[in-house]
Amino acid sequence: MQDVFMLFSPPATLAAAVVAGILGLLIGSFLNVVIHRVPIMMQREVDSVCACERDEPEPHPERYNLVVPRSACPHCKHQITALENIPVISWLVLRGKCSSCKAPISARYPAIELLSGLLSAGLVWHFGSGWAGMATLVFGWLLIAMTFIDLDTQLLPDDLTLPLMWLGLLVNVKGLFVPLQDAVLGAAAGYMVLWTVYWVFKLVRGKEGMGYGDFKLLAALGAWMGWQMLPAIILLSSVVGAVVGIGIIVASRMGFDHKIPFGPYLAGAGLVALLCGQQITAMLYGVPG
Ligand SMILES: [Zn+2]
Repeated sequence: MQDVFMLFSPPATLAAAVVAGILGLLIGSFLNVVIHRVPIMMQREVDSVCACERDEPEPHPERYNLVVPRSACPHCKHQITALENIPVISWLVLRGKCSSCKAPISARYPAIELLSGLLSAGLVWHFGSGWAGMATLVFGWLLIAMTFIDLDTQLLPDDLTLPLMWLGLLVNVKGLFVPLQDAVLGAAAGYMVLWTVYWVFKLVRGKEGMGYGDFKLLAALGAWMGWQMLPAIILLSSVVGAVVGIGIIVASRMGFDHKIPFGPYLAGAGLVALLCGQQITAMLYGVPG
């Protein structure tokens, strides 16, 4: 069980990367479901609790989770068949339209599938097909889901940030990426750093610059990569965030109060840090890498 992809004959790295890419495309299709449904599931849970407190009937009696009901066209309710659900290819064959009512299907669906496929292939290419490669696949998939949920709803669900953090601590129990001590300190420090920034910002400016989900995401990144990587992650995400943010503000002249979620920048910085963190910290601390 040391190397799942060794079931496939060598040359291992290329073959493993291709297999990971195909797996990534399929998971990408599922990530589209996660991105769409998790915020709705969270809202339904809130609605149910509120209704229960007011002794009102359950507002959403029908089952709704990541599996049920089956995916359907939002316009005509046509159920998506297995053939219409092949990552990227189905969208291209259908020319981005529902097979039944011809309503357009967003290009974001194949884009996320492609992103997941390419990222998965790249991670296994970089980390190999052993435990480290497998672990980074889950890391990458969770980050993709969080990025798009945050873009859509400005929320980072606990259901995704907390498992990512626990997983980061678990993979480092035997020091897969960093010693466990660094991982635990990374999780705690990641949370506390942004928590402090949040409260300073709130006391000085009287408003919230980010959310609790961001603290948990940075805690998760600290758990995976250790506390030593936190400065690099914060620096990367702030620089990219500021550049993109200023670009958006200038382009749309919305003023500086427009809320831009921080999660996607943290996620992007986390991935960059995972891939070339050693070089970045070497540069930051002036140690030869
Ligand atoms: Zn339709």
